[in-house]
Amino acid sequence: MFNMRSLVIFTINHAAISNILISINFISQISHKNKLMLITNAKVITWEKPNKILTDHALLIQGEIIKDIGPSTTLLNRYPNEEIVDAGNQFALPGNICAHTHFYGAFSRGLAIPGDAPKNFSEILNKLWWPLDKALLDEDIYLSSLVCLIDAIRHGTTTLFDHHSSPNAVTGSLDIIAEAVEQSGLRSVLSYEVSDRNGKENAIDGIQENVRFIKSLNTSVRKSSRISGMFGLHASLTLSDETLESCLGNKPTGAGFHIHAAEAPIDQANSLERSGFRVIERLNKHGILGPASITAHAVHVDSREIELLKATGTWVTHQPRSNMNNGVGVAPVQSLLDSNVRLCLGNDGFSNAMWEEWKTAYLVHKSATLDPRSMSGSDIIQIAIYNNSELASRFFNEAPIGKLIPGAYADLILVNYHAPTFVTEGNLPWHILFGFNESQITTTIVAGKFLMKNRELIGLDEEKIFYSARKQSKEVWKRYESYFSNKG
Ligand SMILES: [Zn+2]
Repeated sequence: MFNMRSLVIFTINHAAISNILISINFISQISHKNKLMLITNAKVITWEKPNKILTDHALLIQGEIIKDIGPSTTLLNRYPNEEIVDAGNQFALPGNICAHTHFYGAFSRGLAIPGDAPKNFSEILNKLWWPLDKALLDEDIYLSSLVCLIDAIRHGTTTLFDHHSSPNAVTGSLDIIAEAVEQSGLRSVLSYEVSDRNGKENAIDGIQENVRFIKSLNTSVRKSSRISGMFGLHASLTLSDETLESCLGNKPTGAGFHIHAAEAPIDQANSLERSGFRVIERLNKHGILGPASITAHAVHVDSREIELLKATGTWVTHQPRSNMNNGVGVAPVQSLLDSNVRLCLGNDGFSNAMWEEWKTAYLVHKSATLDPRSMSGSDIIQIAIYNNSELASRFFNEAPIGKLIPGAYADLILVNYHAPTFVTEGNLPWHILFGFNESQITTTIVAGKFLMKNRELIGLDEEKIFYSARKQSKEVWKRYESYFSNKG
């Protein structure tokens, strides 16, 4: 089913965009398992527990994996014949992880919403996101993914959990995104958000897309070690009991759900009206929660729902930039952390500059609680480093992600940060929060391959891809606007 259609899609797409991709062979080498490379002269931040900062150290990378770490002189003596990359005394640290994003939102930047500005979350969905996702066709999905992936490479984000929606191009959409991810060289967990908002048949298409894609991960169709999948659901407020049951019934064994939950008060009001239960209780009754599932936001959850999230081992993602932008409130992160809920950090389609999300999280809770002790640097590290790492490592379970230790995936970035004071394991979170920024990232490596080296992208022609995206966005905006004129 997919194979036939996607072959046609890619024949068309590639004919149109073949001139924007260069050196794909570099990225799509079938195997570089035995290739050895020594990165020397780095200040290595391991993000082990407890964290270590190792000055003038080297990392030996073999294929996709870090094989050895030690003082530069020791490793240079131990491996005298390998390719050497001098890090020039930059910091080397694991690439950032984004636990919830939407590549499909790329063409929303600069888009004018017709009529009055949305006055609440429902209007934001109705006036912006739902007509915009309906405007997306195959090539738009491909280009919106590629521009987000380039943004991620530039900003040092190496693993992303994408939550996709394109109701007029459902079938095969996850393959199109996977194609973009493969070309980018990044690591991603993909899902299609099932919803009843476009009718029953469209919901069934969404279910089938998730099932087909997740099953394809174990076949020869898709063998990339950098792509995984989840079963996506939009949100309780657009899902009937019947559809939730069908999602659970069709979910491949072992797969987890990825769903927005209790993002705005409307989600709770809708759930109570539909079912008599609050959102998290309703999702629990339908088997949506669990240690493989992600609920995004959880802004409006009460103590019983927090207990349920903890008891089921469900992951929760926090996106403060999006919550502030949508005016939906401030998530009860302290209660979630105190209850040992597995809280992670995403960006909900904002820029893939994850340190911006760190800084927002660090500030917003202090402001909301009138207490500067709220959301400490250590809390941020627990969420954005340790919990995100544990979540990502579940989906790529052959090696840990988010740590620089022997045996872990070689997903790392080099950061040219000149510290005005000493950097120690103890004060590192505050150096990152107050001193690091994404323009200092010079190099991004995923699975042992350079995706950006000395600020030059390798394998993707950024200028041409963004040129194509801008051209394509005009068509998307026309279709978006037509939904308003057709409505009268
Ligand atoms: Zn979202």
